[in-house]
Amino acid sequence: MPTIVPFTREKREDKAIYYTSLIKDMKILVATEKPFAKKAVDGIREIVEGAGYTLSLLEKYTDKAQLLEAVADVDALIIRSDKVTAEVIDAAHNLKIVVRAGAGYDNVDLAAASARGIVVMNTPGQNSNAVAELALGMMVYMARNQFTSGTGSELSGKTLAIHAYGNVGKLVGRKGAACGMNVVAYDPFIKDDSVFAADGVKKVDSVEELYACADYLSLHIPATEQTKGSIGYDLLMSMPKGATLINTARKEVIDEEGVAKALTEREDLKYITDIAPAMHDLYCEKFGKRYFGTPKKMGAETAEANINAGLAAARQIVDYFVNGNVKFQVNK
Ligand code: NAD
Repeated sequence: MPTIVPFTREKREDKAIYYTSLIKDMKILVATEKPFAKKAVDGIREIVEGAGYTLSLLEKYTDKAQLLEAVADVDALIIRSDKVTAEVIDAAHNLKIVVRAGAGYDNVDLAAASARGIVVMNTPGQNSNAVAELALGMMVYMARNQFTSGTGSELSGKTLAIHAYGNVGKLVGRKGAACGMNVVAYDPFIKDDSVFAADGVKKVDSVEELYACADYLSLHIPATEQTKGSIGYDLLMSMPKGATLINTARKEVIDEEGVAKALTEREDLKYITDIAPAMHDLYCEKFGKRYFGTPKKMGAETAEANINAGLAAARQIVDYFVNGNVKFQVNK
């Protein structure tokens, strides 16, 4: 039986889950095509079994049919970049909660989950430092001609513009400031100016203003209907001479044709991205050392991020079943 913590009624509209969690041995499945580190799985097990629930694992699965079978009787699901489609949700008759161990959750069909009353959460912030360190490394890599010959340049004294000042953006800003960069940020959803002021960051009020001053533009917007394909020709063309665009967000936010056109017309511009775009081969051929795309998404690929996100996912599931906590729900 799970530890019973006093239930805060205001926290949840549907009390049924809470009462069920007290009488039923909840089954929690970790379904990962690309598994967590062993240390993360051990930690997840400790949290889940410590709460009196059962853990099962489906790792390195190669076929969707394996996932459909594994979810049939589970109450909770922990995933990484695994796709939870409407078909998976249909096959999971008891499913109450899905937690994406990571920040982006565009791999989960939110509408299908909501239609069944299934809570979907992410684990924001757990891999932010890993992504922020990669962004800084990418700036140095491009400033030093991809570690080949030729005179490079330094980050110190340059303007670092942060597009979206969320968990990753803030850490990139702080790390850039520590390197002596002048940090500027744009995030229309942060209404409280003290968030920027607390980090000594200059806030700008338009995306145009941001790109126009960016020696380095670090991109941290989520992929939404509004942002997909939104970073392209006009914004790149407005950047100062020798500017670099760094994308550790999502490849979908880039207008690849537009970026190619800008890099063709402006031989001083550079672009580096965590996960190669569809036009990778053409970019390599045309832009040489001015372009780099990682072959696989690397941002969150550290042992620390992997463990943090896995443990957070397990804790959030237990907290949901025991206390009804929906703080990190993304399909409200
Ligand atoms: P977050 O939710 O903490 O922050 C996102 C920020 O974007 C918020 O502050 C929000 O106000 C802002 N925002 C939303 N729409 C915007 C818009 N149209 N214009 C400007 N700002 C907008 O997310 P995060 O954890 O900082 O992640 C940022 C990005 O990094 C996401 O795209 C995420 O998918 C990606 N990410 C990539 C990796 C990787 O492996 N490369 C790992 C983690 C996250």
